[in-house]
Amino acid sequence: MSQGLVTAAYIVAAICFIFSLAGLSKQETAKQGCYSGIVGMAIALFATIFSETVSGLGWIMLAMIVGAAVGIHKAKKVEMTEMPELIALLHSFVGLAAVLVGFNSFIDAGDVSAEMHTIHLVEVFLGVFIGAVTFTGSVVAFGKLNGKIASKPLQLPHKHKLNAAALLVSFILLLCFVSADGSWFALLVMTVIALAFGWHLVASIGGADMPVVVSMLNSYSGWAAAAAGFMLSNDLLIVTGALVGSSGAILSYIMCQAMNRSFISVIAGGFGSGDAASSSGSEEVGEYREVQAAEVAAMLKDASSVIITPGYGMAVAQAQYPVAEITDLLRKNGTEVRFGIHPVAGRLPGHMNVLLAEAKVPYDIVLEMDEINDDFAETDVVLVIGANDTVNPAAQIDPNSPIAGMPVLEVWKAKEVVVFKRSMNTGYAGVQNPLFFNENSVMCFGDAKAKVDEILAELKK
Ligand code: NDP
Repeated sequence: MSQGLVTAAYIVAAICFIFSLAGLSKQETAKQGCYSGIVGMAIALFATIFSETVSGLGWIMLAMIVGAAVGIHKAKKVEMTEMPELIALLHSFVGLAAVLVGFNSFIDAGDVSAEMHTIHLVEVFLGVFIGAVTFTGSVVAFGKLNGKIASKPLQLPHKHKLNAAALLVSFILLLCFVSADGSWFALLVMTVIALAFGWHLVASIGGADMPVVVSMLNSYSGWAAAAAGFMLSNDLLIVTGALVGSSGAILSYIMCQAMNRSFISVIAGGFGSGDAASSSGSEEVGEYREVQAAEVAAMLKDASSVIITPGYGMAVAQAQYPVAEITDLLRKNGTEVRFGIHPVAGRLPGHMNVLLAEAKVPYDIVLEMDEINDDFAETDVVLVIGANDTVNPAAQIDPNSPIAGMPVLEVWKAKEVVVFKRSMNTGYAGVQNPLFFNENSVMCFGDAKAKVDEILAELKK
């Protein structure tokens, strides 16, 4: 394939990626967005593999077959609830790839023209730095998301000073690296510092702030890919990396707004985790009332307006299907049923929307937190299905809570609130929820799917 054709294919692929992002921004067009992305990636792979600068096709094919086999196996096996950790793991691969491309590019620097030499050295240094930070940061995020690493924030003394020192020393090493015309010593010392920096950055962040970390690492992985694109002089990799990097940064910004956190403090790492531990207790703070499925069904029959606020527990239980059936049944009987979705409900952005779309819940009754928060006061029954942190009033009433300041769904304002969960255990942030002990709250204990199935059976009677 001639260079001209490759460039044309890259432009088409880049356009497909832009359409993909545009499609993914709305539920109705998300599927088309996925298809655009697949087509773009297929074109990009084809053009790259068959370009005249590429040799060793046999090895590439072998690597692709092994990679595709592992990818297909993983994709088929992964549960929806495990998606965030899989994404974190994939981000770590992008980071590692950028580090390896950086080292290789440094070894292979012979092909670079004399006038581009300094620029190339800077590209290598920055590429390895971003890649190493992304790699260890994503590994820690993976561990925190699947529970192998405690979600409690790591509190090293002078943590912000340590971060600043890591950045400063890396900058000095960059100057040494460039002035020495490339030095393995400076490159390797910086790599070790960047690995430790990435680890520390994510380890210092508390459980409740993980959504921001996931989207931030998404952004870092994009910049790592763009850096690799510069080192390999691959325009498409630069464009794709920049798209992922900037869309990840926008997502991080949206997540920061949703959590009421400052964007800068996220980038600095370990925000909002300082002295808050004092009220992160998980002890029960009052008495709660328990109800059975039949009583909940009776409440629903009497209600004229119902809001359902799903959370991570609905994903674990896979309760979205009976929930969709109950919604359908109640709507047919003239009850107004809507869904209130918190931006960080579940374990990945848009998690609840995906589950509800899967169960064919109509999009127009699925509302964002800001669209529905004022309506709880006029609502008869709220069903909190496997949600906890996202409906926790402590965010508003307890300034020492680790989730203080985070906007939440104000479910407690409704006439009656039914909470579906299996025990009195805390949510992801490890904070007890005063909602459960309110006078207008009742607890429906058990697996969410089993309980919702029972309610459905009662409603059908
Ligand atoms: P939480 O994680 O706060 O709580 C989930 C609740 O579901 C738990 O209290 C649990 O209680 C219950 N549960 C678990 N399994 C079942 C089951 N089978 N049946 C019934 N209940 C079940 O959920 P939220 O969605 O409210 O909050 C999301 C949290 O995750 C936030 O802290 C957010 O910051 C964090 N997060 C979000 C990410 C994102 O991008 N959305 C990414 C990473 C973290 P019990 O054990 O008693 O059943």
